[in-house]
Amino acid sequence: MKYLLIIALALALLWWWRTMGRKASGRGPAQKAGREAPVQPPDDMVACRHCGLHLPRTEALTGQQGLYCTQAHQNAQEGS
Ligand SMILES: [Zn+2]
Repeated sequence: MKYLLIIALALALLWWWRTMGRKASGRGPAQKAGREAPVQPPDDMVACRHCGLHLPRTEALTGQQGLYCTQAHQNAQEGS
């Protein structure tokens, strides 16, 4: 009877461990994704050298004297 009890206990522990493992692995990625989204840094914001408008660096035009929101502002600032 002792062995039966030990086996039952071992099975219970194994079941509990697997359940906890599944829960942890199931929650892990979801929580990670939820946490990572807000943590992701926003686009680097730059100011137009001509009008001061803030826009993402990826959308800014790079001129000789700085960054601009539009081609017109680059032309107005740099006089090309
Ligand atoms: Zn501008």
